[in-house]
Amino acid sequence: MTIHDIYQAQRSYFASGATRPLSFRKTQLKELRKAIKRHENEILAALHADMRKAPVEAYGSEIGLLYEEIDHTLAHLRQWMKPVPVSSPLMHYPSGSVIYREPKGLTLLIGPWNYPFQLLINPLIGAIAAGNCAILKPSELAPATEAVIRKVIADAFKPELVAVVTGEGHVVIPGLMQHRFDHIFFTGSIPVGKKILEMAAPHLSPVTLELGGKSPCIVDERADLKTAAKRIIWGKCWNAGQTCIAPDYVLAHEKVADRLMEHMKSAIHQFFGENPANSPDYPRMINEKRFDQVASYLQQGKVFTGGQTERSDKYIAPTILTDVSFESPVMKEEIFGPVLPVIPYKTTAEAIGMIAQNPYPLALYVFSSSRRTEQAFIEKVAFGGGCINNTLVHFANIELPFGGVGYSGMGRYHGRNSFNEFTHEKGVLKTATWLDVPMKYPPFNNKLKLL
Ligand code: NAD
Repeated sequence: MTIHDIYQAQRSYFASGATRPLSFRKTQLKELRKAIKRHENEILAALHADMRKAPVEAYGSEIGLLYEEIDHTLAHLRQWMKPVPVSSPLMHYPSGSVIYREPKGLTLLIGPWNYPFQLLINPLIGAIAAGNCAILKPSELAPATEAVIRKVIADAFKPELVAVVTGEGHVVIPGLMQHRFDHIFFTGSIPVGKKILEMAAPHLSPVTLELGGKSPCIVDERADLKTAAKRIIWGKCWNAGQTCIAPDYVLAHEKVADRLMEHMKSAIHQFFGENPANSPDYPRMINEKRFDQVASYLQQGKVFTGGQTERSDKYIAPTILTDVSFESPVMKEEIFGPVLPVIPYKTTAEAIGMIAQNPYPLALYVFSSSRRTEQAFIEKVAFGGGCINNTLVHFANIELPFGGVGYSGMGRYHGRNSFNEFTHEKGVLKTATWLDVPMKYPPFNNKLKLL
């Protein structure tokens, strides 16, 4: 089937109304769950082939989260879909008003390579729950996972409901976006996100952008340093730093920076042994291009621990870097690898000023026992979402909206928010005909006095 054929087939299928009933949506979500289950081992093998993700990490971040999302959606969908009656102004008596939850129609979901399965299937759950059709475009940079996504989707759905289109993004997506989509959900980099918005503009298609940025991690002088060190290193080394919400750099209060770094060094040894290259739990860079980029950051500061690389294996050791400049690329670009600059600061105000050099981060993490410090960062910094005394795990709470702000993106998803993102809330006011209040009709004469 050509892209045009798939598009036309989905248009007619959506227009038939088949995707609208609650029972249909639930059946499709269950089919998806079953197909993922059937292919679980292949998915884990593909993620290992693409990035050497350890099965435990891959299951937690790419499969388990999806089961949870599907189960939560199945449990609440009936409630979410219900039309909601709201009050109406007396002026329009006798009227009633209702918000209807309408599917948007045809959706285009575009995924990145770093969590290539989860970040494409997660929005799909929302798209189906809201009664839409979907075309999926996985990242070509994780080819083994791309192949398994094709299989899972073909196993679960008819192409007129959900189809997969593959190929190089810069070739395939402009072709796809010649057509009008009723919603586009993009997860990826800021530069490509801007291109997606441009391509959506002629059609006025609504767009969700899940982008990246430099997510800061602040450790103040009242933090539990040992726990902070473990949670920061865990968050930084998960998928070897190739995580959109990874702590990008650490701002450590000058009184505790040295001790924090010692604890972080111990945490690296505790998690991955003396030589992380030999650990089965430590992933690799996705490709040589990304390896070269991340390895180049190692020259832009002083290596406190780590720094070893092996290009043929796309291996970069977990590395802590000091003496970095905000003018160097390592502090201007999203690192997206296991290199962690640590920068000392003196006051909260100074730390907030440092964060402002890379505004609108996707995530922010504060380690402190002071509520006042915690609130200062929450209130004074615009960021997508984050954690206090932890890293990454806000992503895994289905009750929290997930998404960026400013340069880190627009729109939000997970749980109820996913359903809302793919739903049009249609407001309808209905007026009875047994009474026709004449106030609104001309001639107006001196009716103003009655208002
Ligand atoms: P990317 O922007 O290079 O690619 C994302 C998708 O866009 C891929 O499917 C690719 O094929 C396609 N694409 C690439 N070039 C294109 C073009 N010129 N025109 C149209 N489409 C194109 O991103 P990536 O390298 O796969 O992912 C890494 C980035 O994604 C990082 O910046 C990271 O922070 C971000 N990210 C964000 C989230 C989030 O939830 N906010 C999650 C994961 C990754």
